[in-house]
Amino acid sequence: MTVFLDLHRHLEGSHSPAALARVARAHDLRTPFFFDPQRQAFRSEAELSVALTMSGPSDDASVFYRCIVLARQAYVSVAAIRELSVAAFQEAAADTDGFELRISLFSMTRTLLENLGQQWRQVAPQVFAEQYARPVLLAVLSARDEVAAATKKPMVVRLGLSRTWESGPHYEALADVVIEHAKQLVGLDVLGIVPPPDTEPMPEGLVQLIHRLRPHLSDLTIHAGEFAGHGSIDRVMELSPRGIGHGVHALESDATLERLVKDGVTLEVCPTSNRLLIPSALAKLKQARGGLEPLPALQQCHVHCILGSDDPTPMGTGFKNELAVAKGLGVDLVKLEADMKRRWREMTGQSL
Ligand SMILES: [Zn+2]
Repeated sequence: MTVFLDLHRHLEGSHSPAALARVARAHDLRTPFFFDPQRQAFRSEAELSVALTMSGPSDDASVFYRCIVLARQAYVSVAAIRELSVAAFQEAAADTDGFELRISLFSMTRTLLENLGQQWRQVAPQVFAEQYARPVLLAVLSARDEVAAATKKPMVVRLGLSRTWESGPHYEALADVVIEHAKQLVGLDVLGIVPPPDTEPMPEGLVQLIHRLRPHLSDLTIHAGEFAGHGSIDRVMELSPRGIGHGVHALESDATLERLVKDGVTLEVCPTSNRLLIPSALAKLKQARGGLEPLPALQQCHVHCILGSDDPTPMGTGFKNELAVAKGLGVDLVKLEADMKRRWREMTGQSL
């Protein structure tokens, strides 16, 4: 029996219009995005969907980021975050044979505080971490446990840290909390969706924090080679990640490809995400490979690749759709499944 897991999916991009409409009603969220003051009515799932989904490809990452920011307006309490998390896990379980969900705990916590009318920078790092970040993390983990028990599908959570590095002391305090719950997490991810995305080099404080977290969260993935060129992959390889988020720009350099193969690093390729977020770069990469898409091209170069849906809501996709897309692009599905199983074993120590 074939098994396909979605191993690159973000919680913040997994809040469906249906779940957001439900939570808005349940928590009486009367911001203009959720509530139409003229009609004195909550907006429908269909109305929310238009604003939450990218209308087409754009090289401007802020178009995507705006969709994420809109969804985050529903982070008004830990209870609301938990309800949204349960829905996201349920929907991911229905869409896959299992999955990994990434959470940007810092940005979720910061947004919760902003939605509560507080200036997060005025909140002491210790308080930020203990009173806000920890309950958010526990809410997400308990949502995972609830849905895992109900569906019996494999599902893991990875902690995402953003390159934006808005405040060293707040990140450090958050890391102390994360370490206490590290056994319930599968690893660490570095991301950066706020424009300019995946800027390099990483802030020095973030690199130090990764080293501090690594003994507790050894499996490291880093978003690189998505918006930036292959050089961004070469640089982050110095941190010995096991996975690279996207990394399709590796195709620009034989040396980068060779290193990925030699070190057994997996690229997490998300075809619809690439089509929508980096249309110009994608066209160039394809042109250089005679029209071949990055995923099959990387497979031909013997790079381990897994498939991900990235952010299903803003990208208007899901994992089932990504599998169909991959098939249409000429991806070797047997190899894809073998690479996915290999990566799952590497991450969890367990076979599927
Ligand atoms: Zn991603």
